[in-house]
This record gives sequence, C-alpha cells and structure tokens, in this order.
Amino acid sequence: MKSNKIVIKNGNIIDPSSGINEVGDVVIENSYIIDVLPLSNETYSSDYKIINAKSMLVTPGFIDLHTHLRDPGQEWKETINTGSRSAAKGGFTTITSMPNTIPVLDNVNIVSDLIDRSKSEGIVRILPIGSITVGQKGKNISPMNELAEVGVIGFSDDGNPVSDPNIMKQALMYSKDLSLPIINHAEDKNIVGKGLMNEGVVSNRLGLFGADPSGETIMIARDLILAERAGAKLHIPHISLSASLILLEIYKNMDVNVTAEVTPHHLTLNENWVYGKKGEVPDYIDEDSYDTNAKVNPPLRTLDDAKDMVDGLAEGLIDIIATDHAPHSELEKKCSFAEAAHGINVLETAFSSVFDLFLNKSISINRIIESLTSKPAEIFNLHKIGKLQKGYFADVVIIDPKAKWKVKEDQFVSKSSNTPLLDLDMNGKIICTISEGKIIYKDNKFYV
Ligand SMILES: [Zn+2]
Repeated sequence: MKSNKIVIKNGNIIDPSSGINEVGDVVIENSYIIDVLPLSNETYSSDYKIINAKSMLVTPGFIDLHTHLRDPGQEWKETINTGSRSAAKGGFTTITSMPNTIPVLDNVNIVSDLIDRSKSEGIVRILPIGSITVGQKGKNISPMNELAEVGVIGFSDDGNPVSDPNIMKQALMYSKDLSLPIINHAEDKNIVGKGLMNEGVVSNRLGLFGADPSGETIMIARDLILAERAGAKLHIPHISLSASLILLEIYKNMDVNVTAEVTPHHLTLNENWVYGKKGEVPDYIDEDSYDTNAKVNPPLRTLDDAKDMVDGLAEGLIDIIATDHAPHSELEKKCSFAEAAHGINVLETAFSSVFDLFLNKSISINRIIESLTSKPAEIFNLHKIGKLQKGYFADVVIIDPKAKWKVKEDQFVSKSSNTPLLDLDMNGKIICTISEGKIIYKDNKFYV
C-alpha cells in the first residue's frame, strides 16, 4: 500500500511541550509525526503532499475532556457523527463522551458499544468517561474496575453531583487503585435548588430565580477534603467562581492530586449575557431580555469571576480549557428561560473565543495551546497525543490567526446552533484538521 506522506510547510509551529514557537515543517508519515523541523530549508520528494502553512499557526490537535455527544438516547440533539464533525471543525482531534447518555455509560456493554460506534461513526478520537454511580443516581458505585478495563479515562456523574460524601469517598478510593480521575459536577443541589442563573444583581433585575453560587464552593471544598483523605485524583469540571480558585490554590499547595478545567464561556462571558445584548446591560427589560442561549450550568458568573478565571488559567492554577459542549435542539431553547435546557454548543467557537484572550494580551498563545493539548493529555494520562513530536499521532491543527468569521446559525455542523455568540465576529479560524495523519477537514470542507 502507498504510504501517506504529508509535509505541513513553513507554518508557525507552536508546541508547548517542547517550547517550540518557530516557523518550520511538520512531517507526517501514515498515522504519525516523523519529524518536526524548526527553521527548515528541507526539500521533499514528490511523494509528499505539501500543505503550505505560511503565516498560519500549526499546533497539536485539540483535546476536549468534557464533551456531551448525546448519543445514545438523545440523537435529536447530537450524534457521535455530528458531534465529532463539530469537533473537527473546531480543531479538536480528541473528545470525550460524558456518561449522561440514555442509557448511562455505567456498564461494560454500553461502553463497549459506544467505543465500537465511535470508531465507525466518529471522525475524531472519542474517549468515554464512565459514570461514578449506577444510572448516575448517586447510590451504588458503577463497576469501575470493569469500566476501566474496557477503556474509560475517568469517572463522572456529570450533571448529577454525587451528593452522599460516603459514596464520593468510596469512588475516590476505587479510582485511586485504577489511577483514573474522578470528575464530580461541582454543585450542591440542596443549596442551588432550581436556580436558573447566577444569583445576584442580574437575576434580581430579571426576576429569575437565582442559584446560590456557594453551591459550587461547598461541593468543591467537600471534594478536596475527601480527595486529600483518599489520596486520589480529583478533576474539577467547569470551575467558575473566584472563591473556588482560592480553595483550589490551597489544596494544590498541599500537593493534593487535583486539577481543574474552565470553559471558554466562563472565561469570556458573564451573567450580563443573559440580558441578550451580547454582554451589554440594557436600560429597560423586555421579552428579548432573556437569552436562553446564555443558560448554562454552572451559570455564567460575574465579570470579576470571569476575569479571575482568565488569570487563573494564565498562571496555570486552572490547568486546562474544556468545552462542556452541551448541544440542544432549537425547541429546547426557543422557550421561556425557566423551561430552557442548560447548555450550549461550544466546540466550533471554542478556539476563537479564547484566542481573543491572547489578542487582548490577557494570556499567552503558548498557555492557550498548552491548555487545549499537552496539558489535558498529561493530566488524563493520554498517550501519544497532545504534542507535535516524533512518534506521536499526527493530530495537527492549522489555524489562520488573521482570519475573521461570523458565527452563523446555518453554518454549524453540530445538530445544535445554540450559542450566545450568534452573529458575533470572531478572530482566528481553524483552516485544517488532521487526525492520525488524515486530513479530515480543510478549507470549510470535510474529507471523511
Ligand atoms: Zn457537562
């Protein structure tokens, strides 16, 4: 069989793991990177397909540790195929499948079936996350050993926090033996109740029932205490509050095995976006003042919280960016704010959202790329991905840093287009996504 040879030529290679931020070539053969050549004048034989990446950024394929694919069970929202296409368009070559599918990913048969279907129906690498408890009901621990054997990369009852501390403690102890992280949705439902958005000035003005933010900090504090006791690895999903960062810092300084992720929306948006005026505070309230596309869980927080998330990510206190891509159908969002489902489409806008943080000098490009590539691979122990290095899978993204584009409802490849960013102008565009040496997406077209 003819071998697949590609050279990505003259791009600005950014590989945080090796500290490379230089113009050069990335050489691919079959599924792997065989060379990374900064400042290269190399010429290549005619059997190489040359991709001219002049004035482009060339980075490792992005890794998302928090993706909801809705498949099986809610295929009207998203499927393995549409979710993975959405990922490829956004530059992600590895995504996860959170376990809150129907049925829940709580047993070997369901997880094995998902793994098989991910290979045949998906176009990027999809790694399953198993549930912590059977049916995500918080009562009985899932068969964690067996789930680990078939390939889950961590455990979560996402959306349903494990409320019983004794169950959480047991789960942490089992996960320690398996060397896999527990990802507990950081929300104490008892205090958050049916809160619709962040409790504060905006919820008061809109007359919407507010979710007490201490629900997040209470749960994180409890989980940190339990993780320290168990000596287990805790990964905190979608951290969103300044107060949570204080707890995280204390426990990181105590050398507790804890990591945290933040979403693009908790970095770049805030509770004012619920007003539906792209973050502006309106003079008066009318029926358009309730943007259901700004309804997420955890809710968008204050401007100060968002600023602290950016600083936390910049300094490495928050380890990674994860999308919490949570697609819904139009009907589930075109309704009253109270009735609307939590969650938004993030995969296709994630990079451009956070790229603005680089453009406004809040965070280095190196740190942004690291938090989307080598860092998630490192903290979840994922092998041979997340770096542009010889012997690694040829998962590569080519980005045009100068390109501008508009978020348009009809241009999503995801089944959902629910995002508060609709009609906004974005900076930086994914031009090409290569997965295991195959060009799967290039110049707005899919090749698989
Ligand atoms: Zn989630």
